[in-house]
Amino acid sequence: RSFSDYALSEEITRALTTLGYTQPTDVQHKVIPIALQERDLTVKSRTGSGKTAAFGIPICELVEWEENRPQALILTPTRELADQVKQDMTNIGRFKRIKAVALYGKQPFAKQKLELHQKCHVVVGTPGRVLDHIQKGTLDVERLKYLVIDEADEMLRMGFIEQVGAIIDELPTDRMTMLFSATLPKDVEQLCHQYLRKPIDIEI
Ligand code: AMP
Repeated sequence: RSFSDYALSEEITRALTTLGYTQPTDVQHKVIPIALQERDLTVKSRTGSGKTAAFGIPICELVEWEENRPQALILTPTRELADQVKQDMTNIGRFKRIKAVALYGKQPFAKQKLELHQKCHVVVGTPGRVLDHIQKGTLDVERLKYLVIDEADEMLRMGFIEQVGAIIDELPTDRMTMLFSATLPKDVEQLCHQYLRKPIDIEI
C-alpha cells in the first residue's frame, strides 16, 4: 500500500513526502481512489484517523490551479477545526500553490471579504459565516465542484442543520459531496439521503 498507487501528480506526491506521509492510513486507502473518480462518499471515521488528508489529497489533486473562483468548500463545526483543515490543505497543496481561506465568526468580515476577492481554490469554514458570505455575495459558489461536510454529527449536534441546508441549496448540483462523521445518527443519514448522489458508504 503506497501513495504511488493513486497516480497523484508530482506536486502532491512531493508535498506528502515533505509532510512525512510515507503510507496511506486506512481511511485514506479507502477514500482516495473513489474520491479521485469524483463519486459521492459517506465516511464513518474518527479524528486521528487521517481523515483530513483523505479528502484533502484528492481535492488538492482535482482542483484546477488556473480557475480563479473557489472550487472546493469544506464545512466544519468549529473555528479551530477550520483553521486546522485550512493549514492541512495549504500543506498538501503547497507545491501546486493551492490557496485556502478560512471563514468563521469572531473575525472581521471585511478581512475575509478581501481574501475571497483574491485567487482562492479552497474555502474552509463554519456554517454561519459561510452562509453569510454567500448571501452577501462575497463568496462566489458558481464554480464550486467539491463539497465536504466534516464532522457532520457534531455539526448537527451544534444546531447547524438549517444553515448547512441553506448553503447546499446555493451550490451547483453538479458537484461531488463527501460527508465525514464519527457516528451516523438519523439526522445525519437524512442529510446524506437529501444531498448526496448514490454515495459509496465507507466504514473504518
Ligand atoms: P486527522 O485525522 O486528519 O486529524 O489526522 C491525524 C494526524 O495524522 C495529523 O497530525 C496528520 O498530519 C497525520 N497524518 C495524516 N495522514 C498521515 C499519513 N498518511 N502518514 C502519517 N501521518 C499522517
